[in-house]
Amino acid sequence: MASLSIRKLCKRYESTEILRDINLEIADGEFVVFVGPSGCGKSTLLRSIAGLEAISGGELTIGGKRMNEVPAAKRGIAMVFQSYALYPHMSLYDNMAFGLKIAGKSKAEIDAAVQKAAKILHIDHLLDRKPKQLSGGQRQRVAIGRAITREPSVFLFDEPLSNLDAALRVKMRLEFAKLHATLKTTMIYVTHDQVEAMTLADKIVVLSGGRIEQVGSPHQLYHHPANRFVAGFIGSPKMNFIEGTVARIDHQYVHVALPGGVQAVSVLPGSLKVSDTVTLGVRPEHLQIAAGGPIAARVTALESLGDHAHLYAEASGAAEGLIVRIPDDEQHSHGEALALVADPERCHLFDAEGQALVRVKLQQAA
Ligand code: ADP
Repeated sequence: MASLSIRKLCKRYESTEILRDINLEIADGEFVVFVGPSGCGKSTLLRSIAGLEAISGGELTIGGKRMNEVPAAKRGIAMVFQSYALYPHMSLYDNMAFGLKIAGKSKAEIDAAVQKAAKILHIDHLLDRKPKQLSGGQRQRVAIGRAITREPSVFLFDEPLSNLDAALRVKMRLEFAKLHATLKTTMIYVTHDQVEAMTLADKIVVLSGGRIEQVGSPHQLYHHPANRFVAGFIGSPKMNFIEGTVARIDHQYVHVALPGGVQAVSVLPGSLKVSDTVTLGVRPEHLQIAAGGPIAARVTALESLGDHAHLYAEASGAAEGLIVRIPDDEQHSHGEALALVADPERCHLFDAEGQALVRVKLQQAA
């Protein structure tokens, strides 16, 4: 087990900067998820930690020891790739034993390690099989099992569930949570799937364009996103955004003029002034249909999900349209005009640079 510390890390390929000024502390035993859109640098950061990429600047320590010059094999880490990278001609047993044989471990030590890992992953009845005789989920377990046998101080997982179908992904996600609870080893997990990030992580690191946008618990990122990017990335369906201007500021609310009226938002005004351009952010579950509400919308589609429905609407100021979570039995027709209101205590406000204003509830909790 080990903590990690990343200070001012940067990575360039020739003149292209891929990672910029990455600062991150990972505690011993933490489950940390790197999340962000494709191409944001998640894998490069993971590979830099693994030692598969040399970093261009900054420092990386694992368990307090500087790792910049330490080769991958000596970092005490084990990495599991999306592609599984199993040897097709070897049995599962031999696939899992291979690294230990190379490391010169005794037969008894190897057997104990393989059996233990196989038991944890429920593949102990499959050890004689070859990889091609397994399902995708079972192959992924073997790749994880091989990592476990090495008893690393840090596990690195690079999009490990991407090749599995939706149902298996959900199952394996739970297996990862159990694995972490059992092993209690530091784990770093890369995904572009924010549901995986929300459900697995103690701590989520949101990356965009080679920079860290925000680091926090799933709860912090969901309820207190630091900026518009994180607000739009975390949460499914996405947060709604509506452009407006500051109409009035009083001791309780910032009042925002929207195309259909004025919406109160419970945030600290910071340096906001009347007439400043702002963006209202409100999640689908915090928007309500209410006669006279400040958001004038028109229904474009309805999606029934059984216990609730999603109403899609267009509204001026909302370039991407709006999504409203409504009870499943509500009737609406295509083209119907609606007025909506956001819950003032639960909506978000972003300034012209996309930075979030501090929500009053957060201030009270501090
Ligand atoms: P992610 O894992 O978030 O999808 P990556 O870390 O794989 O993103 O890639 C980040 C960026 O670095 C991308 O723009 C990618 O094209 C670029 N990149 C990755 N590897 C190389 C390389 N060997 N040479 C040049 N550019 C690279």
